[in-house]
Amino acid sequence: IYILGIETSCDETAAAVIKDGTEIVSNVVASQIENQRRFGGVVPEVASRLHVEQITLVIEEALQQANLQPSDLHAVAVTEGPGLVGALLIGINAAKAFAWANGLPIIGVHHIAGHIYANQLVTEMKFPLMALIVSGGHTELIYMEEHGKFEKIGETRDDAAGEAYDKVARVLSLPYPGGPHIDQLAQTEGEAVDFPRAWLEKESYDFSFSGLKSAVINYSHNVKQRGEQLNAEAVARGFQQSVVDVLTERTVRAAKEYDVKQVIAAGGVSANQGLRHALQKELAEANIEFSVPPIQYCTDNAAMIGAAGYEMYRKGCRSDWKMNGEPGKALTSWSH
Ligand code: ATP
Ligand code: MG
Ligand code: FE
Repeated sequence: IYILGIETSCDETAAAVIKDGTEIVSNVVASQIENQRRFGGVVPEVASRLHVEQITLVIEEALQQANLQPSDLHAVAVTEGPGLVGALLIGINAAKAFAWANGLPIIGVHHIAGHIYANQLVTEMKFPLMALIVSGGHTELIYMEEHGKFEKIGETRDDAAGEAYDKVARVLSLPYPGGPHIDQLAQTEGEAVDFPRAWLEKESYDFSFSGLKSAVINYSHNVKQRGEQLNAEAVARGFQQSVVDVLTERTVRAAKEYDVKQVIAAGGVSANQGLRHALQKELAEANIEFSVPPIQYCTDNAAMIGAAGYEMYRKGCRSDWKMNGEPGKALTSWSH
């Protein structure tokens, strides 16, 4: 079964062909990062315009790399939400046009389900499992009893982990998106600034990063006000330790409490070396299997949408031609 995946929810224009939900036949990502960097973030209008310019080329390239004809495909899976509405609509309309012209069904995929199913590209998902979602807009723990069944047991009460990374990066004058740059600085050896950890209530699986973010901003401000040089490495190490400690403690505790067979991490921040190592180590000690996608499949891509789309296709999920972009779409269990 060949699924064409399409993703345009934010600032990546992406298309991929996935075979049987696990094999990447082709994967094309046109990133807008270079274009958006001068604005220090994603400007929705700019994102939509760049998606329009890229989408047809990206889809054609994905088919060409796969060496397949449209008639070889079985369905088109596309991100339905959440994301920027104008950006989502470019992908959805391209998916509809392509599917209609080629007599294929369309399947609307939740962006976070896509991040989760990026793991299927490297490993078999084993249920029940606990998924830690850490991305630019989400920080959640999701319990899955089986394919397509999502139960949120905890989430951030303020900033997402990726958002905190990007804001702290700005304080340190690092380029957008800041996550990978902070990660790199944090890998170096040396002292770390001691920042607080937001543990919240003892039994909670929720997260909070706004206090930590403020602590970093205040610390940096005070250093500069004293006329001293800010040690960016020490700030990055301290900030990353705080984030990783909390994410790891919550995830391991949830995995034990729910007695899962596997823990998977997903989303842009799961590319973080500190987080990957900490989860690997703590879960190995707890004897729980751990999976995380290869770095390039942690951030936005269409292979993950194709992987999730395949499982939805198998479950009989099909979308209507009236499908619309849903900027605030909730992650609900699959039904058909
Ligand atoms: P969402 O998936 O919630 O809709 P998004 O699609 O914008 O948000 P992703 O593409 O999944 O987010 O992830 C992007 C985020 O991941 C950015 O905030 C970026 O800084 C962060 N990120 C990427 N690599 C790393 C890293 N190595 N360490 C920490 N953060 C990282
Ligand atoms: Mg992105
Ligand atoms: Fe994402």
